[in-house]
Amino acid sequence: MNIINVISDKNVPQWGNGKKFIAIHYLGVVGQNNKVEAGGYGAHYYIYWDGTIYQAAKHDAVLWQVGTAGYYTQKHPEARNSNTIGIELCPKCDGNASNPSDPRWYFTKETQEACVWLVQKLMKDLGIPASHVLRHYDIVNKHCPAPYVNNNKYKTSWTWEEFKARLSDGSSGSGGGSAGGTGQMYRIRKSWADAASQIGAYENLDNAKAACKAGYTVYDKDGKAVYSVGASSGQMYRIRKSWSDAGSQIGAYESLENAKAACEAGYTVYDKDGKAVYSKAETWKATGTAVCGGNGVYVRSGPGKSHDPLGQLNKGQRFEIDGNDSGEWVHVKVAGIGIGYMHKDYVVYDQPTASAGGWKAIGTATCTGSNVNVRKGPGKSYDSYGKLGKGNRFEVDGKTSGSWTHIKVRLNGKDRIAWISSQYVKRD
Ligand SMILES: [Zn+2]
Repeated sequence: MNIINVISDKNVPQWGNGKKFIAIHYLGVVGQNNKVEAGGYGAHYYIYWDGTIYQAAKHDAVLWQVGTAGYYTQKHPEARNSNTIGIELCPKCDGNASNPSDPRWYFTKETQEACVWLVQKLMKDLGIPASHVLRHYDIVNKHCPAPYVNNNKYKTSWTWEEFKARLSDGSSGSGGGSAGGTGQMYRIRKSWADAASQIGAYENLDNAKAACKAGYTVYDKDGKAVYSVGASSGQMYRIRKSWSDAGSQIGAYESLENAKAACEAGYTVYDKDGKAVYSKAETWKATGTAVCGGNGVYVRSGPGKSHDPLGQLNKGQRFEIDGNDSGEWVHVKVAGIGIGYMHKDYVVYDQPTASAGGWKAIGTATCTGSNVNVRKGPGKSYDSYGKLGKGNRFEVDGKTSGSWTHIKVRLNGKDRIAWISSQYVKRD
């Protein structure tokens, strides 16, 4: 058997076919044709009633043959115009040829036998497994090819299962020689022996290189490696608070999806070059606001000078606090910079006045200790406004942070919204 070369580039809509699948079609009309129609249906091969095979387009051509066209429903997870070689079988019909579901569509024995020979050859030349030989109908919900979708063995038609069974019967598979091609084929695999790992096959080496992914190698037709993207230089997604803060890493994944799934609030997924590709916002519940007390003050990714600067603030710039401080470092949220830490020396807490409505008391309480510090923040590291004695009274709003209670108290003639250690708070 041989292939008649009627290859034309004229109507090819796009180039760069990945050649992972083979789709079987029927022409849809009673007739014989071998023209690739740009913008409409088209296939790489056409097989006539007598079994003559025409190659109408190069394998690198991407033809509009199995797409949804905005109309059909995609059924196959992977097969697309961009990775599928198409074969049109010229059919006959004894019934209503305007109805694809008519049960009297059929293929001649010659057409089907030539198709088996061609598919076997393509499987071998392009490294395509039999499981990737599909009906158009298996890719989208189009009634094509009618004889193998009706699957009713009308006249000389086989069933689709019989067709598939013949692909593995060992006959044929060689000879011919692809018309128009150079005979060269570059396959992208993890290793030459691992044919199942193939992610593409190209006649053009540059196209193969462009499609080669980390951990894969481009092999020539004899299995000689000609290009590799090493696994060692391959992609790795690391989850950290910031790229330079390697100590904060909570995971590293080859798959971006896995890294995203493992990313926690306040962390970012970085690619191998340290470029942020995904971030999970930290849930932030402000307990107050403050302003920056110095110029050029760093907001850092973690509580300490060793952590990355996220940005800088100048005197008077405002930000939020949430009480989740760490040692001398105040947890802050700054518009335009994000969530980070600032040294307490530069944090000046806002004191909302009672009239500003910043305070909503839910009850009153009494101080049970002596010389109890009333602090600007929930921690011993915060400055003190002054001290309370046993029996002093204040308001509470229900907020706590760790072992600290949020209070409003009159102190030295001023209303202060502040924090005291919860162990000295006795609610009324
Ligand atoms: Zn079709």
